[in-house]
Amino acid sequence: MIRLHDTLSGETRPLVPLQAGHIGIYSCGPTVYGPAHIGNFRTFLGADLLVRYLRWRGLTVTWVMNITDVDDKIIRGAAATGETIEELADRYIATFLADAATLRMTTPDVLPRATRHIDEMADLIATLLERGHAYRTDDGSVFFRIASWPRYGELARLDPEGLRVGERVEADEYGKDDVRDFALWKAPKPGEPVWETVIGPGRPGWHVECSAMSMAQLGPSFDIHTGGVDLIFPHHEDEIAQSEAATGATFVGTWLHSAHLQMGGTKMAKSTGNIARVGELVAAGMSPRALRLALISVHYRAGLSQSDESLAAAASALDRLDTVVAALRAYRQAEGPDDSTLAGRLVAANDAFIEAFDDDMNVSAGLAALFELVRDLNRRIEGRSLSTADAIRALETLADLDRVLGILPDPDVELGPELTALLDERAAARSARDFAASDRLRDALAERGVIVEDTRDGQRWRRTEEADHG
Ligand code: AMP
Ligand code: ZN
Repeated sequence: MIRLHDTLSGETRPLVPLQAGHIGIYSCGPTVYGPAHIGNFRTFLGADLLVRYLRWRGLTVTWVMNITDVDDKIIRGAAATGETIEELADRYIATFLADAATLRMTTPDVLPRATRHIDEMADLIATLLERGHAYRTDDGSVFFRIASWPRYGELARLDPEGLRVGERVEADEYGKDDVRDFALWKAPKPGEPVWETVIGPGRPGWHVECSAMSMAQLGPSFDIHTGGVDLIFPHHEDEIAQSEAATGATFVGTWLHSAHLQMGGTKMAKSTGNIARVGELVAAGMSPRALRLALISVHYRAGLSQSDESLAAAASALDRLDTVVAALRAYRQAEGPDDSTLAGRLVAANDAFIEAFDDDMNVSAGLAALFELVRDLNRRIEGRSLSTADAIRALETLADLDRVLGILPDPDVELGPELTALLDERAAARSARDFAASDRLRDALAERGVIVEDTRDGQRWRRTEEADHG
């Protein structure tokens, strides 16, 4: 039984799919006015981990992540570079997808772009106008009428009277009925993109984008909606109000919110300049797999701090994993019987892993189960208690758990003919006791990102990180 903590009810409760065996997940995706920072990726990778886990547990998952490709910052950014908003967005979507691939994020099944769904947004707003939940102002903008939605504020647990006082200036500017009301549709302004729609010309507000795109892909009710805690209010509060007011259905089954990634004691945010990016960290020599591990290794609702130490800790944990994998791959014990207690140990590790992740995605406990298994396997390798077949069984268990974690060296990545030939040549040189040649070949392999070690089972190799992703 998988249990998740739902922000709206405040409860940790069983995940019961709306449609048997299937889970629909919508994640608020990047606003593509610049490269995403690793704080954004902490939240995205939290969703990735959930998607991987649910699939690993046998559920079918449809994962939708939107791309916000029109908003004030994108319009300003495009004006500054002289590009169209489309060109600017295309560039940063490419960067986002490249960074996501570097971090081995599962590619969402659908990545809808806001500008491709303007008609659905306009239709949703038309329904809200018809039902009296929205109104037009003199300039043609459309606002959601908070007073028409008594449940407003439930997600964020806010006092409805006190909402949005900070936005008074905007209220005067647009002529809203109530300062708390938020824009669904923005009337045309010089220098801004305009779409002609059933509700007239203009462009969508940010909140309505996610309601329209999620419901277009997953229907009026779907299982899980994710985002960072900063999106609870007003973004997700607004999404609930405008979606449920339009459809009358419960919008989302479970709301999941990730705590922020901090750096130097404050939230990582582009507005403060307190950011680190995937491309820069990797260019500086950080292993992408270690970066992924650092970003997923703490429970999604617990705060996480980014520092050189946290990255080093992840790199050393990863090293322990790589070492045991290399040792198991090289392990040969042709004669010996199977280790009679190994199968039970592998099942116990698997069970502990499931118990941890079933408990609201408790990744720290899941990783603890994995690293306990690694210690145990090292003892068995050291004690030569495993058979060759046992080593393969252990590798299979590690590879299986890694379908969730995505941190092991990719088993599908072959060395390729050139490197394989070098390895074979070196093995031959060693057996001919030509150590000068074997050392020269070891250096040649190291230069190409393959580290070779000699063990009593023969030479074994592993890739250095750059080679993994170069
Ligand atoms: P944005 O591109 O700003 O719309 O943000 C994309 C996602 O990243 C949202 O779900 C945000 O809540 C999330 N996010 C932004 N900053 C952080 C941070 N420092 N740590 C974790 N998640 C963040
Ligand atoms: Zn959103």
